[in-house]
Amino acid sequence: MSNPVSEMRRRRTFAIISHPDAGKTTLTEKLLLFGGAIQMAGSVKSRKAARHATSDWMALEKERGISVTSSVMQFPYSGKVVNLLDTPGHADFSEDTYRVLTAVDSALMVIDCAKGVEERTIKLMEVCRLRDTPIMTFINKLDREGRAPIELLDEVESVLGIACTPITWPIGMGSRLKGVYHLLLDEVHIFEPGKNFTRQDSTIFKGLDDPALRARIGDEAWRELNDELELVRGASHAFSQEEYLAGQLTPVFFGSAVNNFGVQLLLDFFVEHAPPPKSHATTTRTVSADEPRMSGFVFKIQANMDPMHRDRVAFMRICSGTFNGGMKALHARTGKEMKLANALSFMASDREIVDQAFAGDVIGIHNHGTISIGDTFSEGELLSFTGIPNFAPELFRRARLKDPLKMKQLQKGLAQLSEEGATQFFRPLMSNDLILGAVGVLQFDVVAYRLKDEYGVECAFENVGVVTARWVHCANAKKLEEFREKAAQNLAIDAAGELVYLAPSRVNLQLTEERWPDVRFAATREHA
Ligand code: GDP
Repeated sequence: MSNPVSEMRRRRTFAIISHPDAGKTTLTEKLLLFGGAIQMAGSVKSRKAARHATSDWMALEKERGISVTSSVMQFPYSGKVVNLLDTPGHADFSEDTYRVLTAVDSALMVIDCAKGVEERTIKLMEVCRLRDTPIMTFINKLDREGRAPIELLDEVESVLGIACTPITWPIGMGSRLKGVYHLLLDEVHIFEPGKNFTRQDSTIFKGLDDPALRARIGDEAWRELNDELELVRGASHAFSQEEYLAGQLTPVFFGSAVNNFGVQLLLDFFVEHAPPPKSHATTTRTVSADEPRMSGFVFKIQANMDPMHRDRVAFMRICSGTFNGGMKALHARTGKEMKLANALSFMASDREIVDQAFAGDVIGIHNHGTISIGDTFSEGELLSFTGIPNFAPELFRRARLKDPLKMKQLQKGLAQLSEEGATQFFRPLMSNDLILGAVGVLQFDVVAYRLKDEYGVECAFENVGVVTARWVHCANAKKLEEFREKAAQNLAIDAAGELVYLAPSRVNLQLTEERWPDVRFAATREHA
């Protein structure tokens, strides 16, 4: 039997944050290579290709240059178990990304050395900041001409407001790239395209004084490196584990993901310094990761992961204890006990049935519509984790069906896709309209595409006179009945059967709120 606490301490659960094109996919793939799965070279891309073959859905993703589907990849490295949670890159999917960031213990920020800090990175950093998520930084594409390293660090410090501690330092850049120097290990790793896969496969010099090093990189580069290091050592912050864990300081690495250069140095440092699973707040108390009883929360739901099986999978981050396949757990929102059978693990590239999982791991639970984003599962004690954001839709469209006979499929598709959390589906009390709410406009294209691809329904989305939605709560049953009658024109039922007020204007909402003081109008759907 594995010891759950030592298993928990081995877990490193993180996500990569970056602006599109900085190299997140490439780096993910290289990190997976180190997970002992060398034969998996190209796995991320080939997985994309394989899914592309089974579902045209990926074609849309490709066309748009976005990565819509996020997934979980687990791999062992250096005595640790790494869980890498992928985040979608496009801005319209940011609410999904935010929720993924609630399920990690640290993050890795990838920056393109020619572009520096970009707009998406700034936004994602703001989210990490809210939780003081520890962050490591990888400055990528060193094989291309980029901006001066010192300038890049200055930009990270001033724009993102986090102190930088370079752990590796580049020797040249672009065609002059000679290697990197590791400031803590006092080692030079030479850049040799086509090599550098592992330490064994790299030329490494200990210290800077070896004449062979000087001969290898040339006098000029050697002198420049020494000058720069003097400057860097004087000007940058010394590495402090405490400040890193508090989210105040980021260790910085330089490299080239596509050449697999500088990646292992990053990963070695990551597994040593990145934090193991943290505690999580619930409505009643804080749950520590070393508690014996299982608890976890659902941060993501994905419909039709495998188009052949029409399944919907709820992704649960385990916060404490041991998950055993087939165990029964309390489902906080319904208060009922649920058997968690055939849960999936995400080892390397394959989904397989999980026997056991520990705090820090993510498992996939089959969902037939009973599980929502934000739901807690726990063993013995009824718990409800807090802090999983649920975003209010800001855009509304009416679905118009091309073939009226497909109404049933349309309803089913809209309801199931809404479970993923990026869209919300409303049925007005007084009409047969089907209204979809979303945070970003691209969502409507995605839903239309997926309805056709996954449900065989052709539908268009047209404008509708709704500006915002409010979930209706009222303790007084009589008042609620009265409100239901009087405001029926603007009331709808959401996919979970909750009553929602669809306001035709902000003014209308304000007046309605004033007129019905006993009714509470909540901006987001509340869980538990
Ligand atoms: P993502 O959008 O952040 O996932 O970025 P990708 O990993 O898809 O990379 C975007 C582009 O940058 C691709 O064409 C990659 O081949 C390229 N790229 C990634 N890493 C490097 C690198 O180290 N050097 C160079 N020159 N190109 C890279």
